[in-house]
Amino acid sequence: MRIASIESFLLEAPIAIPFGWSQGWIDRRHTGLVKITTDDGIVGWGEGLSSPAAALLHDGFAPFLLGADPVQRNGLWERMFHQLYNANLAGGFGGSAISAVDIALWDIAGKAAGLPICALLGGQVRESIAVYATGLYYTEGEFPDRLLDEARLYVELGFRGMKTKVGGLSVAEDIERVAAIREVIGPDIFLMVDANQSYNAATAIRIGRELDALEVFWFEEPVGAKDVDGYLQVKNALPLAIAGGENLRTRFECKEYIGRRAVDILQPDVVNVGGVTELHRVAQMANAFGILCNPHVWGSPVMIAASLHVAATIPSCPPARNPLPYQQEPVMEFDRTPSPIREKIATPFEQSGGFLAVPTGPGLGVEIDESAVAALSVARRRSS
Ligand code: CA
Repeated sequence: MRIASIESFLLEAPIAIPFGWSQGWIDRRHTGLVKITTDDGIVGWGEGLSSPAAALLHDGFAPFLLGADPVQRNGLWERMFHQLYNANLAGGFGGSAISAVDIALWDIAGKAAGLPICALLGGQVRESIAVYATGLYYTEGEFPDRLLDEARLYVELGFRGMKTKVGGLSVAEDIERVAAIREVIGPDIFLMVDANQSYNAATAIRIGRELDALEVFWFEEPVGAKDVDGYLQVKNALPLAIAGGENLRTRFECKEYIGRRAVDILQPDVVNVGGVTELHRVAQMANAFGILCNPHVWGSPVMIAASLHVAATIPSCPPARNPLPYQQEPVMEFDRTPSPIREKIATPFEQSGGFLAVPTGPGLGVEIDESAVAALSVARRRSS
């Protein structure tokens, strides 16, 4: 089996109600997909492309990917990585380009073997993954009614946890929002807070003390994503769990956060860190250091499925007779913000009781609607 063609699709879809977080405000959603087709007609899908990542894919990777055996994922991963490493491009969008290809190669390998990706990874230790609702972003005129209605909805839908944002307002205003959410959801629902890198360590510690008083379960990206010493300063000053890692690429960028115990919860992202191959490696590294691995997910069903397959294989941390989500079991992000891309390109994933079932079909186990992909695409390119 050989790789016969590589196609990229950059997708964009406007949303009805714009929303924001500490670093941005959006009125449309984006993602980038790759479709790899083999000479015997097997199709694999991956995610993680942006415009510069698509250029790397077609101009840098395609010359050696075309004609290669797609099942040889480890060798192809190394070849992609080393092509970018010396140019200092394996971080950023380069890591995402590797991720997109890697996910598609795993989809192909699974379809060729007739097995889901989690089976190729050695099999699963759980059949469903606990998920929390990611939402409760800033919107125009949201507070308090729309924000608190959204929080109540997640409880009614059966979620055991949800995540909101800080860092877009003053500390006092943000604490008012978080306190109001805690008030309406009650004490038994896990509430997480994400600053998206908006603070220096001193301010993160100041707001972190107030978040802890509101029984916030984890404080995510309190400081700059690459500021490992800032993480350590915050983590050592606060009693609540510190989470981060969604922006890190490859095991080499994750190693300090794991080895220096700069986070309590590592959140690698399958379309940033290097695909299924690298997410699996990083999750195992974190597990050995007693650090929970809760995959970051903010994309289409391709990314959700890839994350579920790896999450299914992560051992309990630490080993436990009765491992529980949030204590020893991975808990995966389930983005509930508006996204036509997420809802249209495949049958959307539906949670039940705060869990998502791991797909059982071959490969990713996701059927892509190619007409929906074409309809949402604003740029396409093909190498063959
Ligand atoms: Ca985040």
